[in-house]
Amino acid sequence: MPSTIIAGNWKMNTTLSEARELVARMRPGLDSIGGVDKVVCPPFISLAAVRDSLQGSTIRVGAQNVYPEPKGAFTGEVSPAMLSGLCEYVIIGHSERRHILGETDALIARKVEAALKAGLRPILCVGERLQEREQGRAEAVVEEQLRLGLEKAATLQGIVIAYEPVWAIGTGKAATKDDAQSMMAFIRGWLSKKYGVAAGDTSLLYGGSVNAGNVVDFMRQKDVNGALVGGASLDAAGFVELTRNAASVKK
Ligand code: PEP
Repeated sequence: MPSTIIAGNWKMNTTLSEARELVARMRPGLDSIGGVDKVVCPPFISLAAVRDSLQGSTIRVGAQNVYPEPKGAFTGEVSPAMLSGLCEYVIIGHSERRHILGETDALIARKVEAALKAGLRPILCVGERLQEREQGRAEAVVEEQLRLGLEKAATLQGIVIAYEPVWAIGTGKAATKDDAQSMMAFIRGWLSKKYGVAAGDTSLLYGGSVNAGNVVDFMRQKDVNGALVGGASLDAAGFVELTRNAASVKK
């Protein structure tokens, strides 16, 4: 069975003190929720502080990016070894990195490989743009991102896939539950062709304008095992409520 994961992507929000405060406000509520892996992904500069303030907590920490080289002249980048010990998960290939920062599938594949080698769990993000969906190319785009992004991943062990249609991210216009399920079934089918039965244990997260109100609809879908949450993860009470609602769906 795939584990249920609710991950909050704080993006480029929160100063160090705001990150400490946010996680302190979430901690009691999130710690009281069982049956779900709870993950917060603060900016790099706050990873250590958030990790320290979560000693003894069931909340896990993730980074929002990683560079695939072990060390060296890569100004501004952070290696997998720098992250291990600070966090367990790392978001890779988020659409903002693909489309604003020009990340390619080839680089994403190297990041996935490097993260796995360092013992980190990649949350590989895939998803089509609006025009691609309107042209009926959503599955083809996602398939290509999976094929290239997982090119160097020999197994699915440790990997989480987040399907995030670009047009749904930060727009308040979430995908319908049926569209989300349909793409998740497509993704699981593709994974099982490449990796066999392991695909049945891989957590598939939906992302794109998820909130406390709509998360239950997504979680009720057969192939949705959780959510990657952006905006709604910045409000402590709202994120706790969202996570509690997700945990209430028994599969
Ligand atoms: C995200 O950044 O991964 C995301 C899904 O954002 P939002 O929830 O704000 O749409």
